[in-house]
Amino acid sequence: MTEAITLLPSPTQRTAAALLSRSFAYDADVLPLAYDGSALTVAVPNDGSDLSERLRQLTRKEIRTVVLPIRDIREGLKALYPAAASRDADSLAAQTLDEIFAAAIGSYASDVHLEPTDGRAGRVRLDVDGVLQADRTLPAGLFERVVALVKVRSNMNTGESRLPQDGRLAVSFDGRSFDVRTSTIPVAGLEKLVLRFLQRFDLVPDLEQLGMGAELLARYQKGLKRPGSFCVIAGPTGSGKSTTSYASLQTISLEHANVCSVEDPIECRIPGIAQIAVNEKAGITFPLALRALLRQNPQQLFIGELRDAETVAIALQASLTGISLVTTLHARDALRVAARLAEFGASRATLASSLTLAVSQRLVRMLCRHCKIKTSVSSQAVAVARRYGFALKGDAWEAQGCERCSYSGFQGRIGAFEVLEIKPELGAAVESGATPTQLGKIAQSAGYKPMVVDALRHVASGATSEGEVLRHLSYDDAD
Ligand SMILES: [Zn+2]
Repeated sequence: MTEAITLLPSPTQRTAAALLSRSFAYDADVLPLAYDGSALTVAVPNDGSDLSERLRQLTRKEIRTVVLPIRDIREGLKALYPAAASRDADSLAAQTLDEIFAAAIGSYASDVHLEPTDGRAGRVRLDVDGVLQADRTLPAGLFERVVALVKVRSNMNTGESRLPQDGRLAVSFDGRSFDVRTSTIPVAGLEKLVLRFLQRFDLVPDLEQLGMGAELLARYQKGLKRPGSFCVIAGPTGSGKSTTSYASLQTISLEHANVCSVEDPIECRIPGIAQIAVNEKAGITFPLALRALLRQNPQQLFIGELRDAETVAIALQASLTGISLVTTLHARDALRVAARLAEFGASRATLASSLTLAVSQRLVRMLCRHCKIKTSVSSQAVAVARRYGFALKGDAWEAQGCERCSYSGFQGRIGAFEVLEIKPELGAAVESGATPTQLGKIAQSAGYKPMVVDALRHVASGATSEGEVLRHLSYDDAD
């Protein structure tokens, strides 16, 4: 019998199927098998007589039942009602994707990773505060359907799985809407997807909320507003450079100025700014987009990232003509910005006269306030802080873990910053090719403090732990 129902449905089985609605058959797990003109034979998962009685009333036929394992009944239903089966699978995929988005939004994840695992199955991981956390695994068929659904909703080519693609989709959840940037890359014959929640400009936290202290904030904002300022935000991937860029743009009046941006990708739409997305495939490169924008005489320019010699050269040229610039750079800290730009071929003399601000930052995880426990800071931390005129008391906190923080001990992130103002004395040092350490010594006399010292401020306030700070930064940088 098991074998018979895995074959294509016979004509008599189709006649039998016509006597029952597919929704009833699916809901009750009843598989029509045959109809001989008077009796309807169905397979049921157990010999419950009330089901026979319902079927008798529903069909007004004599009912004969055969008991089959539920798995076989469902297989049979899929063969008998293929359209319904695929509709059910599609709705399951849609429901699963909704659940994944709900989990991601609920845990403040920045990204969702959908990755193939063994066979054609897959797993879902959420990037929460820069750490990937397992969310769920998806069986073979479902994983592929969820991937296909994301591609459809992102307007990607669903027939293409061997080339990387990217797109966008919108998610509504609890009355809020989210923009999600989607990208797919081929891995071992399957596809890996990353879904990134984009920021909303009106919800971008301001620099103070990001953890910049009042004194640093005042210096930074003054520097940003200076006409013709050239501000470089430096840090490794995941250090929050984009958020700080957008927060910086918020402090600049966008209403009356011609403000433009070139980004790859646009991570946040900003009302009032002409934003151009780099699209290498379509030939829109950073240099091409920048040259086009400069012809329109902007006053303020945001360049998503300085990552090639040509872009650096155009940025410096724009700066020399008086355009204010905000940009990001992949460099370890503010002291290394000039050296990194010189590696891209910029002349040190030009850098000395155009760079006005170099900023760097790290995002450290904040201790869960429900479970953090008291400890004390190391003597090394106290010594480093003292060197920069900051009296660090012995009290500190460390992570423990509880239900509310999913036993990680942390919830949310906060920024540790350093701001380097390139004033004449420092400019001269940049021009003469001073090393980062030498620049640090000169800057220190003008009030510069390295990030690790700023981070100790968050240790003292109990926002983070010393261990978390040392995951990102080293006391050697404050020597
Ligand atoms: Zn906790």
